[in-house]
Amino acid sequence: MLRIAVQSKGRLYDETMLLLEEAGIKLNRGKRILLLSAKGFPVEVLFLRDDDIPQSVANGVADVGIVGENEYVEKGAEAKLTKRLGFSKCRLSLAIPKDEEYGGIEWFEGKTIATSYPEILTDYLDRRHVKANLHIISGSVEIAPGIGLADAIFDLVSSGSTLVSNRLKEVDVVMNSEALLIANNELSEEKQAILDELLFRFEAIQAAEGKKYVLLNAPKDKLNEIIEILPGMKSPTITPLADDKWVSVQSVITEQHFWEIIGKLKASGAEGILIIPIEKMIV
Ligand code: ATP
Ligand code: MG
Repeated sequence: MLRIAVQSKGRLYDETMLLLEEAGIKLNRGKRILLLSAKGFPVEVLFLRDDDIPQSVANGVADVGIVGENEYVEKGAEAKLTKRLGFSKCRLSLAIPKDEEYGGIEWFEGKTIATSYPEILTDYLDRRHVKANLHIISGSVEIAPGIGLADAIFDLVSSGSTLVSNRLKEVDVVMNSEALLIANNELSEEKQAILDELLFRFEAIQAAEGKKYVLLNAPKDKLNEIIEILPGMKSPTITPLADDKWVSVQSVITEQHFWEIIGKLKASGAEGILIIPIEKMIV
């Protein structure tokens, strides 16, 4: 049995649960709400505050955890970074009142900075030989300058709209963050085998992200031209049609170049183009 620690509610919750579900982990509803077992796969899910996840994984209360890089780095917990999960992307930044003139990191010398990430910030300022006072608060950091609690903040930013509505501006990005899968340093062989299977499933989900399956009919005399346009995984699948002047072509394309590719295919004489979502991809 592999125990996975996840955030019980908050910004990581939805995407974490979606990832687990796509990996085939469906939870049994139980009397206990903090710890749920899964159907047909030897894992159980432990719901915690995100702050507690790195430590729980380090001390073996949980075997693996899904947590933001910001919390993992801040807590400095002895747990292995096993996989970057690519969701909940944000950054940890320094921000100051928007009307202040900013010439560089020296601006912070002697100032008071409100933050929930004292370890990361202290390390950053020390390396730049800047001495500032830290005001450690656990939430609503962005209102601190407005109410006179601090001169500046060091906090998570994604779109930046929270900063704007608090009349602040981002002046320095200290680190980027995304959700991570972390693991205890000493997993038993049995747990490691379950984790390997889980990683295999996560990779199949990630590989399929942003990819579509395309099926089309191509006139035989345009086939080479059409194959050139399709950047498939290996080479496209070609199957004959009842009309021997035509063939069916199947391949995988990325969403990024989607419309450009479809436009070229049409111009080359492709017909009956079907685009199908891909759920998982084992490469
Ligand atoms: P908890 O009650 O579990 O302690 P919290 O209030 O500390 O929750 P949330 O605001 O739910 O934390 O954020 C959880 C994590 O989601 C953050 O640590 C960060 O990694 C990520 N995150 C935070 N803000 C954003 C955002 N705006 N966009 C994307 N990801 C974010
Ligand atoms: Mg938290």
